[in-house]
Amino acid sequence: MYENPLYRKVKGSRPLLISCAHCQNPICLYRKVGKGNLLRLYTDRIVKSALNLEHNALICPCCGQLLGTKVTLPTGKDGYILVRGSVHKREGGREERIQSPR
Ligand SMILES: [Zn+2]
Repeated sequence: MYENPLYRKVKGSRPLLISCAHCQNPICLYRKVGKGNLLRLYTDRIVKSALNLEHNALICPCCGQLLGTKVTLPTGKDGYILVRGSVHKREGGREERIQSPR
């Protein structure tokens, strides 16, 4: 399992298990703040990841599908803009299912 060294705890966030919409492979455990659709993943809210977060693209390690591209927001934060419909999210995802990057 790959723990994201950039992860910072946020108050009032809830865990979401993000997985690839194409092959269902778990991608990361994310802590979302607030309601609404998940359009971006902020790098510092990714708790654990099956992917190397130093890459500029978020690509499913299982099927090679592009899931998102990295951006730096005006606030200086890094994040990934998700490709529409490329991921599934599930509330309270179990992080044990996430595998380390190969
Ligand atoms: Zn996939």
